[in-house]
Amino acid sequence: MKIFLAGNWVDKPKKLEVKNPFDNSVIDTVPRADAADLEKALAFAERGAKVMAKISISSYERWKILRKAADLMASRNEELGQTISKEEGKVIAEGRGEASRAVETIMGSAEEAKRIHGETVPLDADPTGSKKLGFTLRIPCGVVAAIAPFNFPLNLVCHKVGPALAAGNTVIVKPASDTPLSALRLTEILLESGLPPEGIQCITGSGGEIGDTLVADRRVRKITFTGSREIGDRICRTAGIKKVTMELGSNSPVIVMPDADLNKVAAAIAMTGYGNAGQTCISTQRVLTAKKVYSDFLGALKPKVEALTTGNQLDEKSKVGPMVKESEAVRVDDWIKEAVAGGARLVAGGGRRGPIYMPAVVADVNPDMRISRDELFGPAVAVTPFDTIEEALTLANDSVYGLAAGIFTENVEWAMKFAREAEAGNLHVNWGSQWRVDLMPYGGLKDSGFGKEGPRYAVEEMTELKMVVFHLNS
Ligand code: NAP
Repeated sequence: MKIFLAGNWVDKPKKLEVKNPFDNSVIDTVPRADAADLEKALAFAERGAKVMAKISISSYERWKILRKAADLMASRNEELGQTISKEEGKVIAEGRGEASRAVETIMGSAEEAKRIHGETVPLDADPTGSKKLGFTLRIPCGVVAAIAPFNFPLNLVCHKVGPALAAGNTVIVKPASDTPLSALRLTEILLESGLPPEGIQCITGSGGEIGDTLVADRRVRKITFTGSREIGDRICRTAGIKKVTMELGSNSPVIVMPDADLNKVAAAIAMTGYGNAGQTCISTQRVLTAKKVYSDFLGALKPKVEALTTGNQLDEKSKVGPMVKESEAVRVDDWIKEAVAGGARLVAGGGRRGPIYMPAVVADVNPDMRISRDELFGPAVAVTPFDTIEEALTLANDSVYGLAAGIFTENVEWAMKFAREAEAGNLHVNWGSQWRVDLMPYGGLKDSGFGKEGPRYAVEEMTELKMVVFHLNS
């Protein structure tokens, strides 16, 4: 595919290959943009921001464009689902699911385009405020740089592009180099839906080569980044004075209290720890289990995880496909071997077939082991025993991350203690850490980032607030 740069579809002799992770076959190529392309994009975006903010692209127009885009996406669900699965490796049911989710995200963004407004401020409630009339105006940030990760190559781009356009910005999208095709398809659809070419550019190229220039540029007024903690940290240091949203990684904990229904827990963990081969930011990673039910829980979980059939992601029978790259399966294998060498116990799965890692349950995990402490981002859970809810919460919170967490219990006091004390942005009672709909304010605490996504909340992140004061005579 070509990139959409400065209002044109552009090819370049230098390419990046996009590969199907299952067999490493090349499914397409995309241009490898460089600093000169980026300069062109930034100069065009500066002008584009003015076009997008103009009254002629009114809230109503933006609603219409995004609505039409959502309709087109819905009509191309199969094609988009296939593109997602082929480039990313998730099983086709998940690819279709992501494509459907993306429709909701764009539809939700369209709805928000009609709801962006300021408010009157009662200035006369201040002792010095008599004869003053004040109100706020919400205005677009201008140029938004949207940098996306590989793992949800369509929906996470929609979470940035939808609210940015709803709020009247122009966007420069930088998709992950492993999975750029879905974002380019989205760009085509938005243009087909009537978005002025000034509204979007989609630039492919190595983040390591062009990322610093993009995020440091003063013409960019807002960065919305989803990706690893390491790159997020680098972007924050490079960005300078501009608005930034950071959606970063996690090693999400789930607490299993002694009164939990273990079959329900096992079914939930098998769903929330292994989706997209564990490559989900809110994947259940650490399962902290009450000692009283520890071995019963492992007994319930083992067959459910062993039933997760692996294989080609495009085969309807596969439940878990390849990881995004074989090197990622090698890394997961290394971390799990390291844990087992340190005294942990492999209860199910483990080992790899090329880029596929066999869904695994690792028990007796010491919290200092890498599979507990760092973000595993693979199809395995690490199970650790505890005695009391206080100990469980201390273990859960003993992490630099804080994106999502869960607890299984029928005891409302325990559930509320968890809700108050667990250090994570999204908390689930009687489900694993992986659950999300777009109506939620979604985002992390601590090193999992800051700022919220979900269209209603993201449009606030994509706008600036101006305060207007009328100094009246009467
Ligand atoms: P990544 O390596 O951090 O890459 C993310 C994006 O940043 C890619 O587009 C990458 O481009 C780009 N990039 C690399 N270096 C850059 C630089 N110096 N400046 C600007 N951009 C740069 O993350 P990933 O491996 O794709 O995704 C997995 C991570 O994302 C995990 O940590 C996961 O938890 C996190 N994630 C978080 C959420 C959330 O909502 N909190 C959701 C999904 C994923 P290249 O591909 O060209 O290197």
